[in-house]
Amino acid sequence: MITVLNVDGQELTPCLPHRAWREVNRARAVWIDEQTIKLLYNPFRFQAYRKAALTRDHYTCLWCGCPATTVDHIVPSSKGGSDLPRNLIASCSECNSKRGNRSAFLYLKEKAHSAPRLFMLCYRIVKAMYSSRIQ
Ligand SMILES: [Zn+2]
Repeated sequence: MITVLNVDGQELTPCLPHRAWREVNRARAVWIDEQTIKLLYNPFRFQAYRKAALTRDHYTCLWCGCPATTVDHIVPSSKGGSDLPRNLIASCSECNSKRGNRSAFLYLKEKAHSAPRLFMLCYRIVKAMYSSRIQ
């Protein structure tokens, strides 16, 4: 098991190595030593933001209109995107993994024909990109 430290160094529930690697690969944590990672975000706050974004978007994927169970970062965490609800949109797991690390605009081009609320989607993307640039 891998020891997990919070942003402020507090010890959290340990996790399995593959989960630790996933957090590090998503630029959400860093290795402190071989047995320890330190998170770069507050997981408790993220849970609340995630729920806020899902509720706001009525648990509906903004890309395709399917029921959404995950949230998608408009500006990826690895590019400095925040975990605040304004940078998150409700997304089904299929869209979330299909988009991967591509920019929101690239994926938007592909999904424009099937997005049920296209105007809302464009608005969210532009707003998230603008606010992450001026942060
Ligand atoms: Zn979808």
